[in-house]
Amino acid sequence: MKTIGAHVSASGGVENAPLNAAAIGANAFALFTKNQRQWVSKPLTAENIALFKQHCADHGFGPQSILPHDSYLINLGHPEADKLEKSRVAFLDEMQRCEQLGLDRLNFHPGSHLNGFSESECLSTIAESINFALDKTAGVSAVIENTAGQGTNLGFKFEHLAEIIDQVEDKSRVGVCLDTCHSFAAGYDLSTPEWCDAVFDEFENTVGFNYLMGMHLNDSKKGLGSRVDRHESLGKGVLGLEVFKFIMNDARFDDMPLILETIDETIWAEEIKLLRSYEK
Ligand SMILES: [Zn+2]
Ligand SMILES: [Zn+2]
Repeated sequence: MKTIGAHVSASGGVENAPLNAAAIGANAFALFTKNQRQWVSKPLTAENIALFKQHCADHGFGPQSILPHDSYLINLGHPEADKLEKSRVAFLDEMQRCEQLGLDRLNFHPGSHLNGFSESECLSTIAESINFALDKTAGVSAVIENTAGQGTNLGFKFEHLAEIIDQVEDKSRVGVCLDTCHSFAAGYDLSTPEWCDAVFDEFENTVGFNYLMGMHLNDSKKGLGSRVDRHESLGKGVLGLEVFKFIMNDARFDDMPLILETIDETIWAEEIKLLRSYEK
């Protein structure tokens, strides 16, 4: 089954996210479990946690249809020791929040080398950061998102994802989230069914669909290989709709959160209907 939703607001409390998702006809959703632009947020209260679980149960959202996203401030591949430590502490807090909420995966951007060391040193540092967090938590997988490769962000090649996973000790708790906009901006052409076949074959051979734990469904404002991360509403960008038709009819994308992060939230309900209309 395809579970589709959007990255909905959790303002007023995490317990509002499942309600916001249900309101747009979603059967999946993404959320921030804390303010994504601050290092420290209040702990979740027992009431937040109980209401979140209740609202998820009321609307049929299981852990496999929920993809929490970590803070944008975190850089698990930071080349400076003190800043790396700050990111690791914040990431652990994010993982623990997922544990508290009964969620089984946390989506994050791998990290940036900031020209402070080599790509492979940065990828090893990210893997060590994941090992650190997995060691102190249970039941939550670290889900690495591929990036557009803007600035010094790593994770824009499937090989980067594979190199990180290779160095993660507990492979049962590491996964990948592919963002269609990021893939296209990074140079993976998903604009025709033939190219989708080729790119996803490459993903299978380099990383493996067994690691895929979610997708971000976004069109792109910027061109193939632009290395610029600018999302667009479905069909309004330069990527186009073919990839979304492809995904909706490929069982390799079943039973995982398929999440819109498109720019106009007023049409998310229509975008979900559009995606549903592609299912044969
Ligand atoms: Zn994304
Ligand atoms: Zn993006």
